[in-house]
Amino acid sequence: MSHEPVVVGHPLVQHKLSLMRSKETPTSQFRQLLREISALMLYEATRDLPLEERAIETPIGSVRAPVLAGKKLCFVPILRAGLGFVDAMLDLVPSARVGHIGLYRDPTTLAAVEYYLKLPEDISKRLSIVIDPMLATGHSAAAAVTRLKEFGAESIKFVCLVAAPVGIELMRSEHPDVAIFTAAIDRELNSHAYIVPGLGDAGDRLFGTK
Ligand code: URA
Repeated sequence: MSHEPVVVGHPLVQHKLSLMRSKETPTSQFRQLLREISALMLYEATRDLPLEERAIETPIGSVRAPVLAGKKLCFVPILRAGLGFVDAMLDLVPSARVGHIGLYRDPTTLAAVEYYLKLPEDISKRLSIVIDPMLATGHSAAAAVTRLKEFGAESIKFVCLVAAPVGIELMRSEHPDVAIFTAAIDRELNSHAYIVPGLGDAGDRLFGTK
């Protein structure tokens, strides 16, 4: 089963993404907005987590109240721009583990080349949420998911902010089991494989390197 991407149309998400797109938005504000929007994206991506009831004693009485059941989470940012999501996501789910995958884009072939990988040992028992602000060609996202699967991950979602149709198609054909959450689907890629209109180079904007 191949999922249609979930486009998170919540007004707060859309407003924050528009501010992030503006070239007038400085690094400090871009970073803060990414942090804020990350929590909202995680809220959507975790909407279907299973719950179970637990007996709780309040100071006043007893209640059977819902708590999270099922798999624990693992966030996997694709370096480096994916790092901008992690703090806000850990604020929401402090018990989550964090794996890291470093991929760079070969400038000639645009293929994803891995330079770093560190995942929790129990990744097979967790729901992995792979995060990268931009789903452009889809090569990095697809390569990251492939590596997670090689390490035993069976349950994976992908969260980004801006997706290009070609990247969505690649993910849906290579990893039809992986649900995609994005705040926008933009028109196309330019000749450098940047998303148009997009928001520019997310890593540079996040870390102020250009
Ligand atoms: N990576 C980015 O940071 N921006 C794009 O538009 C595409 C890939």
